[in-house]
This record gives sequence, structure tokens and C-alpha cells, in this order.
Amino acid sequence: MVVNAPLFLARHDIHGFLNKHAEWISTRLLAAREHRFEWRDGAPLPYLGGHLILELLDQPGPARARRDGAALLCNATPARAPALVLRWYQRHARALLGERLAHHAARAGLAMPPLRLSNARTRWGSNSAKGVISLNWRLLKAPPEAIDYVICHELAHFKQRNHSPAFWREVGILFPDWKKIRGELRQNGRLYFQF
Ligand SMILES: [Zn+2]
Repeated sequence: MVVNAPLFLARHDIHGFLNKHAEWISTRLLAAREHRFEWRDGAPLPYLGGHLILELLDQPGPARARRDGAALLCNATPARAPALVLRWYQRHARALLGERLAHHAARAGLAMPPLRLSNARTRWGSNSAKGVISLNWRLLKAPPEAIDYVICHELAHFKQRNHSPAFWREVGILFPDWKKIRGELRQNGRLYFQF
């Protein structure tokens, strides 16, 4: 652990502070470790409810990420890997979420609404007053049924712009198992926000 302290602080003052707040500090360190994603070779990347294994390559040629079976090959240094992996996720999220949105909109008898990929830190999706559906690209990490639930939830807002019992009935028509999947998403969702 590295402690940053002003130069004029005496060593025993620093130790005094650390001892006094030891419990708080260790709790915070544990929490930070739990939430930080380690961009190392072999790291598991959450993907559709399972994982892709990050393989960092160091080859000549352009820095890029591509999938090979259960691996996401990333020709980049650990420092450049996050940006490449994020771009890969966002590109594939746009394709898959767009496809699922078209599928469920057709089932609901709706025209395909405009789709916006979102990078929100806490929300999975939204349906704007203008009828633009925003979906978080991190949904690509969640199981397919969670993706379908979030999309059906947002489509149901075309019928009910609230979360009333009538709204949940609309969700139930499009996605009968909504209660179970919503519970799972609430429970595991935090994991998908590590990166
Ligand atoms: Zn809603």
C-alpha cells in the first residue's frame, strides 16, 4: 500500500492516522480491489453470461482485438488493452443489441425504434420521450435472457411511460419470466460494471 501524505507531516503522525483509521482503510482497499478489473493476460472477460479469456499478444502489426473461440486476442500492451477491448465490446454490442431490439419490436408489433448505445454507469436502458431506446453496451456481458428482458422492458414503455402494475403487465406479455431475470440482473449487475 502507498500512502500519500504532505511532506511536513511527521512519520509518527502518519502512523497515528493510519492506526486510528485502520479498519476504514482496509475496508476501502478491499472494496477497491473487488471493483477494479485487472487487465492481465488470462483475465476472464464477462461475455453473454460466461467468459472470454483475454490473451495479450505482442506481435508486429496493428493493435487490435479479435475473438478466437473462447479467447479475445488483443495485440496490445496491457496499457493499451482496455481501449481495444472496450471498442470490441461496443462494436459487438451494437450488432447484437440491434438484432435483439429488431426481433422484439417486431413481436410487439412496433416499428424498429432508433437505438443509441449508452455508456451509463448505473443504468441498463432507457426509452426517451422521443422514442429513442438507449441500451448500455455492458449488456453484452450479461446472459442473453437479461439482454432480452431489458429490451422488452424498454419496449413496454411505449405502452406505459411509468412503472405501474399496468406497465409490468405489458412487460409480462413480451417477457413472461421478467421477475426472475430482473432479480438476477440486480444481483449480478455490479460485476458487469468493473469495466
Ligand atoms: Zn423502466
